[in-house]
Amino acid sequence: MGVEAGGELEVIVARSAGTCFGVEAAINIAEEIRKPILGPLVHNPKIVGDLASQGIPILERYADLDQVDDLEEVVITAHGYPKQLKVALRERGITFHDATCPVLLKWVYRKIRNFEADGYHVILIGNPDHAEIIASRSYGEDISVVYDEAAVEGLPDGLEKTVAICQTTITKEKFDRLVGCIRRVKYPGLRAVDTRCKPVKNQQEAVEMLAQWVDAMIIVGGYNSSNTTNLARIAKNHLPQRTYHIDADALVQAEWLVGVRHLGIGAGTSTPKEQIAAVQSRIAELYPGTVAFRVGDGPQGAGQ
Ligand code: SF4
Repeated sequence: MGVEAGGELEVIVARSAGTCFGVEAAINIAEEIRKPILGPLVHNPKIVGDLASQGIPILERYADLDQVDDLEEVVITAHGYPKQLKVALRERGITFHDATCPVLLKWVYRKIRNFEADGYHVILIGNPDHAEIIASRSYGEDISVVYDEAAVEGLPDGLEKTVAICQTTITKEKFDRLVGCIRRVKYPGLRAVDTRCKPVKNQQEAVEMLAQWVDAMIIVGGYNSSNTTNLARIAKNHLPQRTYHIDADALVQAEWLVGVRHLGIGAGTSTPKEQIAAVQSRIAELYPGTVAFRVGDGPQGAGQ
């Protein structure tokens, strides 16, 4: 299928697309310290590849520390690290430089501790296998994790004070749905505190708005990035056939631009701005007509 020459394409990059302050701070720490990192610093292959190409070793996230020779200093990734494993690092005399996002360190973990101190049972809504949830859950005494309706039945009975908080990158739709399910099935009096971080909320809202009126959406970022895949999910709700999730500019196809007059670009909080710019250049190269770029989330002149 070819692209007709001479048309006009407007490309709208979602407001707030690309790296958040937590990811940028983590990159700065890793580049300054230049010590082995316990896992992918953030879930973006380009960022991880750039760090590796600077000679910074990327270890297994939960590496058996006895197997790693001469390890004196490590960097903890932006997703956080379990409390007991930090203790293990200290016991081995390994210094750790903590690139955990301040949203987790200063907000989420504190909420967990405060709710437990007030007698609440904390339910974390998020992916139990994701590094953020594995770490967050370690900062409480007895936290339940729920990621789908099936897990709700397994929550403990007979609890009076319960509160749900969530993975910082989950979608609002999923959080609301699971809170509703837990209230119906288990705890009618469940408190709910939306702990999605501000950059994630902004990006989800921008993609939700864009996907409602553009003809196609490209979401840029790692396939292992929770917040990027959630942006793709949000876009797909509106554009099931014309949402494309890519992790490199070279993947953009000319066919995707056929019949498209307005194209939205969203990108996760771990997607470098240069990667978004590279996707824009690739679109300009492939499109045979005029391409105009802007940042926003609504149609031109719609009060932005
Ligand atoms: S997405 Fe949110 S929680 Fe994650 S690093 Fe960025 S600001 Fe922190």
